[in-house]
Amino acid sequence: MSSANPAANLNQLPPEMLDFTLLKTTGALAPRLARLSLAGRKPILTPAFIGNTSRGVIPHVSQDNFRKCVGLNGVYVALEDFVEKHPQKTPPIFLYDVPDPLRRFIAFPQDTLLVLGARRTPPIPCPNANTNTEISLLTSVGFKAMSSDYYAAAARKLQPDIVVGLADIPFGQEAVGTKRKDKMSDRTETWMRDITAKRSSIGKDEKRFSIFAPILPIERDLQSWYLEHLMENMLDKISGLAIYDAYLLDELPEELLRFPRLSLHVPASPQELLRQVSLGMDIFTIPFVSSATDAGIALDFTFPAPEKSDSSESSRQSLGIDMWQASHAESVTPLTEGCTCYACTTHHRAYIQHLLSAKEMLGWVLIQIHNHGILDAFFAGVRTSIESGTFDADVAAYEAFYEPTLPEKTGQGPRVRGYQFQSQEHGKAGKKNPKGFKKLNGEAEMNGEVRLKAAHGQQPNRKPAMRDVIDDEALLGLVGMERVEPEVQMESLKVEDDSS
Ligand SMILES: [Zn+2]
Repeated sequence: MSSANPAANLNQLPPEMLDFTLLKTTGALAPRLARLSLAGRKPILTPAFIGNTSRGVIPHVSQDNFRKCVGLNGVYVALEDFVEKHPQKTPPIFLYDVPDPLRRFIAFPQDTLLVLGARRTPPIPCPNANTNTEISLLTSVGFKAMSSDYYAAAARKLQPDIVVGLADIPFGQEAVGTKRKDKMSDRTETWMRDITAKRSSIGKDEKRFSIFAPILPIERDLQSWYLEHLMENMLDKISGLAIYDAYLLDELPEELLRFPRLSLHVPASPQELLRQVSLGMDIFTIPFVSSATDAGIALDFTFPAPEKSDSSESSRQSLGIDMWQASHAESVTPLTEGCTCYACTTHHRAYIQHLLSAKEMLGWVLIQIHNHGILDAFFAGVRTSIESGTFDADVAAYEAFYEPTLPEKTGQGPRVRGYQFQSQEHGKAGKKNPKGFKKLNGEAEMNGEVRLKAAHGQQPNRKPAMRDVIDDEALLGLVGMERVEPEVQMESLKVEDDSS
């Protein structure tokens, strides 16, 4: 895969060939620098992150702002976000009869790398178990089963650049028995065989997607059957790996080390990202960027960390700024001093807090643009640090400088959508989003401080249990859904133009 002169070779590659060139690595379990390139797409220097979309958009960032203000070279898209009419009707996206339909449907730039997976990252656990032929999805109108056939047909129709192979993972299940793990390995192997076979049947005049093979979050010996199959029959059919547990990277067989690694191991903090980078992970989707934004938290860190101004100072610096804090109400400084993002170069904290307080969408838009800028600069710093051989020392300094976790959410987020709740919360009664207004006399009981916050539109948030709540509308169809037998569900399951 690596070659001496990748730029020259690139022109000779067939258009669908993904190239992954290792630029620097010091061993199997070490940080590495590489370049992922595909003709027609912007190359991605790794370690890096790609945008994590929801319903085909990075939350709060419209596609024109994506071009102008975010500028990531790739995005991750989940099929479960698009098959909401399935199985009753063909989902609209499959009826969109143009070349490159997924990209055109979600209006991402031509040169953005599109990665398609079955499930969102992180996925919401589904109540129904996967079967030998189907995985459970959470669409916007409820839980559905999707077959391996359907997935392959969807991938062919939608023409993303990269497809993450189906993995049998019982998400949300804490203890998984050995027998179940055996099954995970068997089914994933079958499904990978299925999608590679189906892809090879795609004609030469049609666009072919690259396949990333899932590596299951179980011990190597329990997925050895699957891994052996990958090594014996699939090395020339796969282009990368999708890794669900970064801490099992040391068990990866040598034959698979040269492939790019997409992490689907959800990191909770930048420190966890650094740990994954130190094990040799290449590409990330980072859900905490959007969850920080929803909480009104502007991320505030750099890598390498700044020099400690006062060595006697023992307290560590926070990883983010809670923009709901009243202390920002008159602050005309940028979110982060020195940040070159659109939000920081155009606006100040007081305005952004004003927007949040008024529940004005632009507040979250600006924080989201900033948070992506912070991560972009973070990964640029990580690559420079690996290049100069100071990564381990820089990580140690980072961990000493910053708090280990992101700040707690205090203010309200935007309206909560259906996929943001945990499946066990389905049947719970009560308003899922608090009312936008309340009776005037109800406010009389508030004390002075609370009233001040309320004047800014900030909800006092007296019921912590109501912070992470559900959009009522998104729940339609989820509660009281009838159990439909899989055979009945699958009866009308056909992707248009599916000739395979
Ligand atoms: Zn900024």
